[in-house]
Amino acid sequence: MDGGGGGGKTERILVSVRLRPLSEKEISGNDLSEWECINDATIFFRSSVPDRHTPPIAYTFDRVFGSECSTKQLYEEAVKEVAISVVSGINSSIFAYGQTSSGKTYTMTGVTEYTVADIYDYIKRRPERAFALKFSAIEIYNEAVRDLLSMDSTPLRLLDDPERGTIVEKLTEETLHDWNHLKALLALCEAQRRIGETSLNEMSSRSHQILRLTIESSAHELLGNDNTTTLSASVNFVDLAGSERASQALSVGARLKEGCHINRSLLTLGTVIRKLSKGRNGHIPYRESKLTRILQPCLGGNARTAIICTICPARSHIEQSRNTLLFASCAK
Ligand code: ADP
Ligand code: MG
Repeated sequence: MDGGGGGGKTERILVSVRLRPLSEKEISGNDLSEWECINDATIFFRSSVPDRHTPPIAYTFDRVFGSECSTKQLYEEAVKEVAISVVSGINSSIFAYGQTSSGKTYTMTGVTEYTVADIYDYIKRRPERAFALKFSAIEIYNEAVRDLLSMDSTPLRLLDDPERGTIVEKLTEETLHDWNHLKALLALCEAQRRIGETSLNEMSSRSHQILRLTIESSAHELLGNDNTTTLSASVNFVDLAGSERASQALSVGARLKEGCHINRSLLTLGTVIRKLSKGRNGHIPYRESKLTRILQPCLGGNARTAIICTICPARSHIEQSRNTLLFASCAK
């Protein structure tokens, strides 16, 4: 890492919470918000039914973004520093965690684009180095890994490479030419993710999506610089399955297996994050789910992590919102 800084502080997991605006349906159904962001780090639940026995609940995180905050502001304050460390050769992962319809995809789409724009900006200012940007995208559904850039939906295998750690076999990796190329690839991923969507339970609420951007850079030969060190690092944008899956322990029939797998990935991620945030040196169960196996090189150790927990403001979602904040509290 150039520039140093190091130390325990930068290794901490950056945890923020984003409250989305009420939807028109929620407003017209009088399903209003009971959450209030009282400052930029604290969110507060005020019950419409005053209860003398329970004090108001306030939760504090690194940053809290109210419904009026833009994705740009969230990116600048809660993601940029972590994501952009990739240009210095440091791996990172950015997660969106929350129940279905809380704004995970909305947030991650913006955050991914802002990151790429900043990376391009950085590259422009470093003419003395040569850069290559690579992009890959996978979906994990039912513990099966699928390439979102390929029309072939055959599940991909994970392999243990002695040098690179866990790799996804035969995964498509596109070298980005420019901004439009990125937009086209993102559109392809979105279209692919919709395959299999049913009216009641969208696929995206049950699957995890990982978009990975890898940057390689080396000193230009033209400069006659014999420092030909190549830097390579990845930033992962992880749009998790709806967190209601983690609390829905019981489902019926064929869906049971699915529920269990999603539980496994989300629960394992929760355990891994909790252990990392406590700075424990003991065993970290990366290998217990596909999600954490794939992300292992970009979690813990030298890697940087930011988690954005998204919540629905409406009263009817109070239980899920509290579960999400509980997850966020454990990650701090
Ligand atoms: P999720 O991916 O968690 O299921 P989405 O990102 O699809 O949720 O968001 C659900 C809906 O709410 C979408 O229509 C989205 O455009 C809208 N939405 C989410 N967050 C915001 C926001 N911060 N501002 C405006 N609209 C939002
Ligand atoms: Mg989504």
